[in-house]
Amino acid sequence: AQQVVKDIKNKPRPTEPKKVIVIGGGLAGLSTAKHLVDAGHIPIVLEARDLLGGKVAAWKDEDGDVTETGLHVFFGAYPNAMTLFKELDIEDRLQWKDHAMIFAKPNSKKREFSIFDFPALPAPLNAGVAILGNTDLLTWPEKIKLGIGLIPAYLFGQSYVEQQEGVTVKEWMRARGVPDRVTDEVFIAMSKALNFIDPDTLSMQCVLIALNRFLQETDGSKIAFLDGSPTERLCEPIREYIESKGGIVRTNAPVQRIITHEEGEYKDSVAGLLLKGNEVVSADYYVSAMPVDAIKKLTPDSWRNKEYFSKMMGLKGVPVINIHIWFDRKLSTVDNLIFSRSKLLSVYADMSETCNEYSSKDKSMLEMVFAPAKGWVGKSDEEIFEATMEELERLFPEEIKADGSLAKVEKFSCVKTATSVYETLPGCEAMRPTQLSPIPNFVMAGDFSKQKYLASMEGAILSGQLAAKTVQDLDIERSAKNYKLPSKLPERPFDASVEFANEVTAPK
Ligand code: FAD
Repeated sequence: AQQVVKDIKNKPRPTEPKKVIVIGGGLAGLSTAKHLVDAGHIPIVLEARDLLGGKVAAWKDEDGDVTETGLHVFFGAYPNAMTLFKELDIEDRLQWKDHAMIFAKPNSKKREFSIFDFPALPAPLNAGVAILGNTDLLTWPEKIKLGIGLIPAYLFGQSYVEQQEGVTVKEWMRARGVPDRVTDEVFIAMSKALNFIDPDTLSMQCVLIALNRFLQETDGSKIAFLDGSPTERLCEPIREYIESKGGIVRTNAPVQRIITHEEGEYKDSVAGLLLKGNEVVSADYYVSAMPVDAIKKLTPDSWRNKEYFSKMMGLKGVPVINIHIWFDRKLSTVDNLIFSRSKLLSVYADMSETCNEYSSKDKSMLEMVFAPAKGWVGKSDEEIFEATMEELERLFPEEIKADGSLAKVEKFSCVKTATSVYETLPGCEAMRPTQLSPIPNFVMAGDFSKQKYLASMEGAILSGQLAAKTVQDLDIERSAKNYKLPSKLPERPFDASVEFANEVTAPK
């Protein structure tokens, strides 16, 4: 995994550094720009919003409390994320938790957890002991059926995992004689955590990619929380790194149109980008690091009939909601991530325990992923809050009542993402675009672009490395052949009075 980073650094520096515009300041865009400066090029990140981070973005309310777009955890099996933390010298910002997977037991009389405890043994022994040692979620016949089903994943690794792309979690389990109860009560938690959808729609490949890493790597399933707001504690150091080496990071710079050459030798290649306020920017190369739904909208008409783009049109982001509730007292939670196994909630954590910046000795703040959120993103925050409180009553029967008569709610905040990570349905793997595109000066990044991890922070970071390497390789190859890059549009400063569409045509 760290190989891509090494390859980038080991290649010769360009004699003439190239200007590369990176559209999107989420982790994929920031990772692309970080690795482009390492390659000796000059990236310019254009982020639409006024803050960096995309799906990891976080901001403060008037009390100084942080609201996050999503509850995020890092896994031991995230080598590219770990390399990035190390290179930025911020490894101490990862707060590692006890090696365990903790499942809530909704509808018990009192608040109870079912724990898979991973002992200090090498993989896959630690996972084996964790599974055998858990006696209340899986029966012995279920463990045996599941264990036999997972043997090929362990033995044949990624190639076997990729072959399981066409079936849902539920279909895969049924084909191996694993009862529906296991899917509906145990794998529901994993499906919702991985892709915010239920196991009867999620592709089994997604679950196997995660399980396979957990079985192969001793610390693969170990969980870390960042010690504060991802925008400040992770994106900011990446921005500083990029800028310290000559790159530029702009916020409030939404790209509104990709302008292409309409004819001639460079027909269809990018000539420039139109930003808000009629500003036009141009570069030698362009990298899209937008979410899939955004690049689908911005794809120029003349690109849409190319297989690369027409396939990508089949991908779409899944809705999800992140909700924070501040309570007036400490709840009996644990310092780790909890899989709720409840109908509306996916994972949750008491951030007053798990995260330094949000820590409190006497009050809990529960941060929860509300999924599947289809049918909910259009509802009011109050309706979502009420439904969450009903779920919490089932998870904390002695401490929380939906009517607020036990623990009192001081405030709540709710972030709805109508189209988040791509929905990992069976058959969608073939739709994922590679970083190298059929357009000579256009490269694709983003968690949905082809890389072996899931739609995750790790996947986004790796996609950025691969996109930077693609630009580097293209440029080395072209410089050797004295290839002339497509010409650029003359840049124009902000001028709101000019009607762009009628005025500029791409140079021939
Ligand atoms: P994004 O983060 O979506 O970044 C794309 C950027 O492009 C955005 O900043 C956007 O504003 C910008 N943009 C869009 N259009 C334009 C335009 N026209 N011009 C300029 N900029 C534009 N992953 C994990 O690994 N662990 C977790 O625990 C986890 N939990 C999650 C929980 C939730 C609720 C959510 C929503 C996601 C979670 N993820 C998790 C997934 C993870 O957040 C994403 O996979 C990753 O952050 C995606 O990064 P990205 O850069 O590919 O896309």
